[in-house]
Amino acid sequence: EKVIEVVKLKKYFKERNKNVLKAVDDISFTLYEGEVLGLIGESGCGKSTIARTIVGYYKPTEGKVLYKGQNIHQFNKKQLKNYTKEAQMIFQDPSNSLDPRMRIVDIVGEGIDIHRIASGDERLDRIYKVLNDVGLNRSLIYRFPHEFSGGQKQRISIARALALEPRFLICDEPISALDVSIRVQIVNLLKRLQKNYKLTYLFITHDLSTLKYIANRVAIMYRGSILEIATTEDIYRNPLHPYTKVLLSSIPIPDPDVEKNRYIEILGNRKFQKMSEGGCKFRGLCKYSKKICFEIEPCFNEIDSNHFVRCHLY
Ligand code: SF4
Ligand code: MG
Repeated sequence: EKVIEVVKLKKYFKERNKNVLKAVDDISFTLYEGEVLGLIGESGCGKSTIARTIVGYYKPTEGKVLYKGQNIHQFNKKQLKNYTKEAQMIFQDPSNSLDPRMRIVDIVGEGIDIHRIASGDERLDRIYKVLNDVGLNRSLIYRFPHEFSGGQKQRISIARALALEPRFLICDEPISALDVSIRVQIVNLLKRLQKNYKLTYLFITHDLSTLKYIANRVAIMYRGSILEIATTEDIYRNPLHPYTKVLLSSIPIPDPDVEKNRYIEILGNRKFQKMSEGGCKFRGLCKYSKKICFEIEPCFNEIDSNHFVRCHLY
């Protein structure tokens, strides 16, 4: 069953110099019930813009986001309120997403109150339950966010989301602001919760190794476009798009200089971004590029029912 359908979504921003930044440029995909769809790409490729458009913070320039077949940007007040309960988001930096003046009990209880999910003892029980489920002791509920570590704060923000019994979670780089030593714990926690709560995730990251562990399907994003989407197994065993191959070939890079060069190599530079319109977005960096790649943007081709790629080679 489809949870979210993103249809030909475009989100453009006008920059101060009047250039148009095409943060999301004609993207379509479906998020199915119970799956973890990974969305990966370098920083600035539009991942967070997609996330924010799906939860309704941004209005699309073109295209639409459907929930249960209905356009979320045309919801009335009541529908929108229900949707904000169903669609929860976990942000990169929990320090920014938790109000420092609120106690944990109120942070986690806030959504329960807004959506009138429970009151009195039932409310408190619910708060205890979600805190327990994310691995936090109930004795901590009267503390403030600054009394917790980064990993614990992320657990609190996950508890806050779970308290609403959402249908899906958008995790926008949920571990990249955390200490390396606790990242695995948080990913394990999210994985466990996804099973226990029967949740659906859109899991955004720039780290392929995390996706290998948590995602059922992976979408590869580059400069506002999805270039390849397939099951996680297919992406790792049979990557097709030249950009996917670059990403995969460079998972373990111990040398920071090599890492830096790779980054520049993949991202290109600002000048490249202002290159003329049309053609494949990866053409400037692709060693397989041919004439047609500079003239016509490839379509999203179906290789098999679960594997799509946007490249003239296929
Ligand atoms: Fe490379 Fe052409 Fe494929 Fe783009 S369409 S990835 S330039 S081969
Ligand atoms: Mg981002």
